Amino acid sequence: MFENLSSRLDRAVKNIKGEGRISEVNVAATIKEIRRALLDADVNFKIAKEVTNEIKEEALGQNVLTAVSPGQMFTKIVSDKLTELMGGEMVPFSPKGSPAVVLIAGLQGSGKTTFTGKLGLRLKKQGQQVLFVACDVYRPAAIDQLETLGEQTGIEVYTERENKNPVEIAQNGIKHAKANGKSIVVVDTAGRLAVDEQMMNEITEIKETIAPSETLFVVDSMTGQDAVNTAKTFNDRLNFDGVVLTKLDGDTRGGAALSIRRVVEKPIKFISTGEKLDNTLDEFFPERMSQRILG
Ligand code: GDP
Repeated sequence: MFENLSSRLDRAVKNIKGEGRISEVNVAATIKEIRRALLDADVNFKIAKEVTNEIKEEALGQNVLTAVSPGQMFTKIVSDKLTELMGGEMVPFSPKGSPAVVLIAGLQGSGKTTFTGKLGLRLKKQGQQVLFVACDVYRPAAIDQLETLGEQTGIEVYTERENKNPVEIAQNGIKHAKANGKSIVVVDTAGRLAVDEQMMNEITEIKETIAPSETLFVVDSMTGQDAVNTAKTFNDRLNFDGVVLTKLDGDTRGGAALSIRRVVEKPIKFISTGEKLDNTLDEFFPERMSQRILG
């Protein structure tokens, strides 16, 4: 991931190196190249423009007659800007309540159920008593998939195969968790292939009824700007707490990771990098990610 962006930015910043001072003239070509690199990484045009303008202003506003070389200073400005773009401070996943309730939302195929399995395993390893609740009333295969994940992770799965009311299933699941000493409930919901009104109404109703401590929106990072737009549509209705970016292992460009935070104004909380359950889920640290980009 970010390979292309990384080498392009590295090259752009090297243009500046060797210059005695940063000036309007020598910064212009570099800024242009950074903007192109961001656009090629599938960052949306408005953001690429804003960010590069901000980098330019900062670079020109700095006093470069210091010990730091212009190249190093410029690298730092770009790196700090990318960190800020991806959210600045890391925002932890910290569900509260007893049991704590976590609601998982997203389109079908985004990696929701896989993420539910990964999150459950992570929480279990932290000593939590986890319960999964299967609320996809449209696709029996989705319930089967969650049950398989339950077997693989040793986590109980609450299902009501005959019940077609996901709100009731979620409520009953939470009751079951309380009665059985579970400390955290992860509610997996139905997704569709595209955003539709019925799905939005359903997930909004589930959220209003069960009042989760954390609502996470799962999205496939490989879909780039579509991921950003879908996240915005969901957030406008659902007001979720954080984003989970999946399939980062297959995302060579990185546009969703770079721009989702600024467009949606919600933090990325987790990144998922593979189909295996173990060791493929990480919390998202904006600074580490920008260091990965700028070396
Ligand atoms: P859901 O419909 O949103 O529940 O999506 P699934 O969890 O069923 O995932 C859809 C497909 O994406 C499955 O084939 C998963 O194995 C795959 N998948 C999920 N997360 C990742 C990931 O982080 N990396 C890769 N490479 N594949 C993933």
